[in-house]
Amino acid sequence: MDSSSSRFGTQRQEVLSDSHMLNALPVAVCVLNDQAVIQKANREFSIISGLPSAKLSGVSLLSLVGEPCHHKILAMIAREHVPESDDRILSIQFRFGAGPLSWGNMKIGRINPESNTRNYICTLEKADGIVSGKKNPEENRIEHQLKESEARFRSVAEALTPRIFHLDIDGVITYANRFKGRVIKGNFLGQSIYKFLTNEENVQRLQSALNACKAKRHPVSFQVNHQFDTHPGETRYYLIQLSPVLTNDVVTGFAMIRTDITSIKTVQQELEKTNSKLSSIVSGIEATGIGVFEWDILDGEKVVWDENTHHIFGMETGDFDGTKKGFEKMIFPEDAEAVKEEILFAVEHLQQQNTSHRIVRADTGEMRWVSTRRIITRNKEGRPISMTGVLWDITDEKEKEELKLQAALLKNQNQELKEFTYIASHDLQSPLRTLSNYVKLLEEDPKSDIGEDAKWYLSVIQGSVVRMKDLIHDLLTYSRIGRHREKGEVNLQVILEGVMNDLNLEIMSAEAKIEIGTLPTLPLYETEIRLLFQNLLSNAIKYRKPDVTPIISVIAKESQNSWSITVSDNGIGIESKYFEKIFMVFQRLHDQTEFEGNGIGLAHCRKIVQLHEGTIVVESEAGVGSSFTIELPK
Ligand code: ADP
Repeated sequence: MDSSSSRFGTQRQEVLSDSHMLNALPVAVCVLNDQAVIQKANREFSIISGLPSAKLSGVSLLSLVGEPCHHKILAMIAREHVPESDDRILSIQFRFGAGPLSWGNMKIGRINPESNTRNYICTLEKADGIVSGKKNPEENRIEHQLKESEARFRSVAEALTPRIFHLDIDGVITYANRFKGRVIKGNFLGQSIYKFLTNEENVQRLQSALNACKAKRHPVSFQVNHQFDTHPGETRYYLIQLSPVLTNDVVTGFAMIRTDITSIKTVQQELEKTNSKLSSIVSGIEATGIGVFEWDILDGEKVVWDENTHHIFGMETGDFDGTKKGFEKMIFPEDAEAVKEEILFAVEHLQQQNTSHRIVRADTGEMRWVSTRRIITRNKEGRPISMTGVLWDITDEKEKEELKLQAALLKNQNQELKEFTYIASHDLQSPLRTLSNYVKLLEEDPKSDIGEDAKWYLSVIQGSVVRMKDLIHDLLTYSRIGRHREKGEVNLQVILEGVMNDLNLEIMSAEAKIEIGTLPTLPLYETEIRLLFQNLLSNAIKYRKPDVTPIISVIAKESQNSWSITVSDNGIGIESKYFEKIFMVFQRLHDQTEFEGNGIGLAHCRKIVQLHEGTIVVESEAGVGSSFTIELPK
């Protein structure tokens, strides 16, 4: 542009008045009046416009110029003070050589601004700087093509969203497209690309990429990130693609395309986050033991199981044959029909189905309960495509539920039984008393004329009545255990001493040796606990071996959560097959002639221990001795 502006700046009015001089100018020049009508034009102007000089006079300059540019020219000459040499260049479209419109640069300056006549000098050149058509037509054509293709390249490059640069071999920017995105401040051209990189890592990447591109002469791409001063805290990501530019087979520079991939990167990061969340969910599911399965409804038969599902069904991963029939075979036979119907119903009518059923484990043949949630996926037309679902083993919960139910039932039954026992035993006493009274009356009535036999029968009846009274009394005591009582701090040492006092007669007559260890004080139901030790001690004395001094001990042991107290003897012992039976109401191993008793003592003991939420167990060997251990929670 410098050379042209010097050409523009040297016109003088005297020179212009002379056509010869005008023609001598190496630039296309014309003189305009204030209506933009050409007064004179030099030879260059004639060449450039393709019209003979003579024909140009009187022609409106506007007729040679593209319409959108008319206003520029008119605005210029309409101005009051157009300087003699106006350096402003009007970019206009001109019909060069009577051909199609193409771009040109025009300058308009006022001739003799002091004069009243408003004449203007107008110089014109093609935008490519080619002033005249002096070159041969072939040269012109090639040049024209070159310019066109460059213009095409520029317009394409400028319209592109990625930023395009040309770097010379040292990384200096020699071309950068206009770019609609965020613009780094300052002029790019002539600056080293490294100036625009914000961190050392990016510099290193670019350096090695440029070296690789130069050495290998093939494209290299890499990613960088950039923080803009204008947007603090925000990082943008770019893909940089470098290609070598070869001149005569030598790398003379680089084409560099910078594409903003921030949104892709963000999506990628989101995706990674979602993926890692998903995989943690999946591993979470794996850890919970929940199985996942899928049935391809379109295929009808294909079923996929994950590892957990295999385990739930008692199989090694991969052992399942992957078919619907294979799955159906694993359903507990009694549930098979119902499950098939449920699935059919879900496929036809539901989006989701929650249910449970029984299965048979492949490895142990054991029956297990599974809970399952099935989800039906449908296509746009609503046709079912697949059924995905999860399932998990709920056998333990089911068993617990069952136990709870049974416990509740048992509690109810116990309550009813208690009431029944109480009422029965209480109400039975009165007819028994009547029976006993009448037997006594009969026995003692001097007027009654009953023989010896009848008297003996009466005595047997009386004996039975007494025994029945005993049984009823025991039953009543049993049913009263724990009724309307409260726990208190009970010193077991004191209790045992009291029991020994009560049993003094038995102890003396059996010459029993009783050893009591150190016993704790615990929160207990006093009356009941006294009855418990009374039963255990009296049994230990009663079931002694003949001619062997009974040796009995009561020893307490403390553990973290409980106290255990063991009553041991060296008596006749019990066979292990009776260990359960002896704790049942009225169950005895001996008859009355051998050992007296009603068979309710140990039933009492167990009930009392249960009242304290403890346990009672027996260890014994027939002929050696027995140990009864009660364990009471702290
Ligand atoms: P009872 O003593 O009135 O028969 P229990 O309920 O106290 O009723 O005992 C049930 C049975 O357990 C007894 O009949 C007896 O056979 C057996 N038994 C209980 N304690 C002992 C013991 N210390 N040694 C051997 N047998 C025992």
